Formats: sequence, structure tokens, C-alpha cells
Amino acid sequence: MRVDVITIFPDYFGPLSLSLIGKARGTGLLDLEVHDLRTWTSDVHRTVDDTPYGGGPGMVMRPEPWGQALAAVGPGTLVVPSPVGKPFTQADAAALASLDHLIFACGRYEGIDQRVIDDAATRMPVLEVSLGDYVLFGGEVAVIVIMEAVTRLLPGVLGNADSLTEESHAAGLLEAPVYTKPASWRELDVPDVLRSGDHGRIARWRRDQALLRTASRRPDMMAGYPPSSLDKADRKT
Ligand code: SAM
Repeated sequence: MRVDVITIFPDYFGPLSLSLIGKARGTGLLDLEVHDLRTWTSDVHRTVDDTPYGGGPGMVMRPEPWGQALAAVGPGTLVVPSPVGKPFTQADAAALASLDHLIFACGRYEGIDQRVIDDAATRMPVLEVSLGDYVLFGGEVAVIVIMEAVTRLLPGVLGNADSLTEESHAAGLLEAPVYTKPASWRELDVPDVLRSGDHGRIARWRRDQALLRTASRRPDMMAGYPPSSLDKADRKT
């Protein structure tokens, strides 16, 4: 997968050289380039912002540098993190992981001039996504989050692909609690069933815990869980 990130703060992306994303880049599974938006400015101050039409506080990112930047790295699928975007989900991560070329546009200040998004949409798919109902300083951290969610779904990135099918949000439920050694810690014991070696009972216990956790912590998710995905034993839980 090729990924181009456009930002006025390229240094924010240092962490994308670490851990499994760094490894994916090293092995060629991920070809990621970070570009400084100011490369596409033409004035001596390398200006990327100006005052908003209609008045109001703050500054807005000017369209010209963005237009040139997107022409230089595109076309691809343009992802624009924004508090006015569609809430980002695991399904979006899976959809993005299936694409060959992603372009991320990191907004700052009061955001990017709307015409950049409208113009790009005439040439490439554009997805405006929100990380949640709060406002960040800029799109950089949002891009790091999205890239973590997408990269771990790329075939070959995780050593054990089973991790992907059994984890939270993969199949509409939260994951059951997990434990490791020691079996007893601060007078708290690992549930006996997990030490029983009985794979059938362990699978049943995990499924029950996933259902109970999802129902108590995320009733919204449970309400959207298809009844056809519940078996007889689930209904007793
Ligand atoms: N004026 C904008 C508004 O009220 O919707 C907020 C702009 S915010 C200060 C600057 C940039 O941060 C946005 O253009 C976007 O790139 C990023 N950003 C802020 N909150 C975000 C969120 N919840 N999800 C994704 N990106 C966000």
C-alpha cells in the first residue's frame, strides 16, 4: 500500500517509523511518505493560511497549496480527518486497508478551505472522518490513529492473523478479558476455565464474556448485533 501524508508538521510522524508500522515500511508492505505542505507555497513566508471569509476567529488553510499538493501526490483515495466527518470505525479501517493508495490531508487552524475537498472529489474518492466528538489541534494525531488501525489489517503485518478475527470490533462484539501468568496475583486468580485445557469450555466462556461485556458497556453495539449471529447457548447468556 502506498500512503502520502500532507501536513505542515512532518515531524509529528516520527512514531510511524517505530514498532510494527516501522517494520511494515521496512519490509515494503507499506510505502509511506510524509510531505510538507509548505513545499507547495510560492511566497517568501511560505504562507498556508488566511483569515476566514465572513469573519470570525482563527485562520483557514488556503486552497492553492493544497490544490498543488494533491495534484502532485494524487490521485488516490483522499482521507480528510475532521470533526465534521463520519465517525471512523473498524469497518472503515478494513475498507481503507483494501485500497492501493491513500492520501491524508492534515488540517490545522479552523480547517481547510472547503473548495479543496469539493475540487478533489471531482477527481478521486474523498472520505471525511472524525475520530470522535471532540476537537483536536490538527489532523496529524488522527492520521496516526487511522494508520495504526489500517496497517494492522494489511496482510503480513501481524505475525498471527487470528488476532484480527478474535479482537474487539472484528465481529461486532467487544473482546473477553485476557490474562497471562502468574495464575494468581495480588490475591486475584485467573478464571479456572482458562487453565482447564478444555478448548470447548474456554471458547464458550470467552463468547459469554464478550456478550456480557458488550451488553453492559456498549448497549448501542449490542442493539446492532444481528440476532441471526446469536446461537442457542448465546441466548442463555
Ligand atoms: N473549526 C473546526 C470545527 O469546528 O469543526 C475544527 C478545526 S480543528 C481545530 C483543526 C483540524 O484538526 C481539523 O481540520 C482536523 O484536521 C483536525 N481534527 C480536529 N478534531 C478532529 C476530530 N475529532 N477528528 C478528526 N480530525 C480532527
